[in-house]
Amino acid sequence: MEKIESLIEKVLAYNPKANIDIIKKAYIFSREAHCSQKRVEGSPYIQHPISVADILADMKLDSATIAAGFLHDTIEDTGMSAEDIKEMFGVEIAFLVDAVTKLSKVEFMTREEAQAENFRKMLLAMAKDVRVILIKFADRLHNMRTLEHLSEEKQRRIARETLDIYAPLANRLGIGWLRIELEDLCFKTLMPDLYNELQLKVAQRKEESGKFISEVISIISEKLEPLGIDAKIKGRLKHNYGIYQKIIKQKIPFEQVYDVIGIRIITDTVAHCYDILGIIHSLWPLVPGRFKDFISLPKSNMYQSLHTTVVGPSGERVELQIRTKEMDEIAEEGIAAHWRYKEKAARDSKSARFVTWLRDLVKEISDAKEFLEAVKGEVIPDTVYVFTPAGDIKELPVDSTPIDFAFSIHSAVGNRCIGAKVNGRIVPLRYKLNSGDVVEILTSPTQTPSKDWLKFVVTQRAKSRIRQWTRAEERKGGIELGTKLIEEELRRHGLPLAILKSSKMDEVIKGLSIQNIEDLYVLIGYGKISAKQVINKLEPEKEEPVLPKTTTRHVKTKDDIITIKGIDNVLYRIGRCCMPVPGDNIVGFITKGKGVTIHRKQCSSLERTAVDTERMIEVQWSQEGEATSQTKVYLEALDKPGILANLSALISSVNVNIASVKAESTSDKRAWIELTMEVKDKNQLVGLMNKISQMDGILHVRR
Ligand code: MN
Repeated sequence: MEKIESLIEKVLAYNPKANIDIIKKAYIFSREAHCSQKRVEGSPYIQHPISVADILADMKLDSATIAAGFLHDTIEDTGMSAEDIKEMFGVEIAFLVDAVTKLSKVEFMTREEAQAENFRKMLLAMAKDVRVILIKFADRLHNMRTLEHLSEEKQRRIARETLDIYAPLANRLGIGWLRIELEDLCFKTLMPDLYNELQLKVAQRKEESGKFISEVISIISEKLEPLGIDAKIKGRLKHNYGIYQKIIKQKIPFEQVYDVIGIRIITDTVAHCYDILGIIHSLWPLVPGRFKDFISLPKSNMYQSLHTTVVGPSGERVELQIRTKEMDEIAEEGIAAHWRYKEKAARDSKSARFVTWLRDLVKEISDAKEFLEAVKGEVIPDTVYVFTPAGDIKELPVDSTPIDFAFSIHSAVGNRCIGAKVNGRIVPLRYKLNSGDVVEILTSPTQTPSKDWLKFVVTQRAKSRIRQWTRAEERKGGIELGTKLIEEELRRHGLPLAILKSSKMDEVIKGLSIQNIEDLYVLIGYGKISAKQVINKLEPEKEEPVLPKTTTRHVKTKDDIITIKGIDNVLYRIGRCCMPVPGDNIVGFITKGKGVTIHRKQCSSLERTAVDTERMIEVQWSQEGEATSQTKVYLEALDKPGILANLSALISSVNVNIASVKAESTSDKRAWIELTMEVKDKNQLVGLMNKISQMDGILHVRR
């Protein structure tokens, strides 16, 4: 028991009414449960839960959370069940322990997507009860503090995950001290040399700047005293990872990072914050663009402070933060400040607002990767504040565009946005908004969202709304194409269209576990099932006609190079007869039961087969992707030695890959060569064909 006496003292100091009995009981239970376990380095395992509970006490949390801290590994590592804990400690503590255990189960995944899913689970748990995440944070912090006993590979993996997920989340939740400690621990583990070098330089700089700082502090204090403004002024050192990020982001050496040392002024009232700001700006010239008022416009994680940078007494830049004591507490402890020892007392409205925001985010975004993007993406960058024509303020992440602004007003405004005026002038839709801009959105009832917008919008709201819309559009296109394909297939088999409404069809739909015939059209349109397979289910004995030879291209990948009437994910093949490449004029041809085959418009086999234009469909090359396409070129050449070697040297000199070569000599000393190559597009192909035709001994080149 003696081991936790100091912890209990600590708890009683901030929460005299704490339930010490339950905390002690949890400690004893945990000690018993873990008694046979050791940590990697050989110390008794109980050291870990004690440290976790101690961190939670540092965060001044309530008794249930501290008890759950002691118990957090008992379900995972010992024979205990959630039921056991519930019986002994009640519903609240059992819930916390169970939720933390469930989170731990998905730990240690390295793939980005798995991490994203992990992260989403954390946020879902958090939306239920923030204390679950606070326990998880304490657990991770202690593991990071004692990382050196693990293998190097494990250290790196845990540090990576911590830097990717835990630190941004701590920042999002406004727990400043935790983010800083986690970031520096990760930095030290992932880049030890750089970390040590920076550490050394910062220490040197601190020494040099010591005098300077005390000078600044005394000048400010002298000004404040006669005005009766009570303020605590302290110099502080930026954390190593923060400096490292500045070096990377601004591409400057350490020597040019000015704000390694900052000054923080903590006073009693908001009015005094602004008084102090006025005094500082009258003492020294301010550095333009660095003043930020997070008091009148708090960050979404509730952070409030005034930030400014001035050119100080000896010409050196000084970064200053001015805030009240309460604001400082929130800056350091974030959401944890609202969960401390109030036990069941009402949480204040700010934290309620935060939890609502979080719930909305969890609800709005179902995809884990999008989710990770949302929280990571909107945490780190600063914010711009822009105005509606009516003077309302909108807070958006840096680099937001008029489209982001439009969606922040209403999705109907975003969906219909055709242009924007900023400060009265028309700007492009990809224009980056600046603080203070007055933004007016121009709409048109016929406008619809474009997939291209995804390339420049930055807010998650805009992204998910645009995706929602394009997905619906794709479905529409899928239905259209699927209908066409299946009707064609029915006609070919001499079956009546009415069969689509028959009970047989209902059975097929049920068999595929989809809702209705529309879903079936979508499946066919997207190439997930062929019309032929559907007909086979309806009329199993129908036989398959001979199909033209085609080469199958991968389906449903990022590298899809064909867009069919604005639909993605359609099963298509590239016609083997003419092998089109991007840039060629192309047309899609609905191939029975096999989706769409892409031909060049002038393809001769198309002329032969495509008598009914009903089966033709408009297609386009899509711009994205670095994929290459195979195509064939036929050469007639003089049958001279070395011609193939010269040819392949020429082709590889323009970075084109040869997939295969067939050569045949004729009796009259000529050679026929068939080259299959992988080219980017028609331009590259035509350029190459021109070069080949100028080669010595080449008589004729054609596709
Ligand atoms: Mn643990």
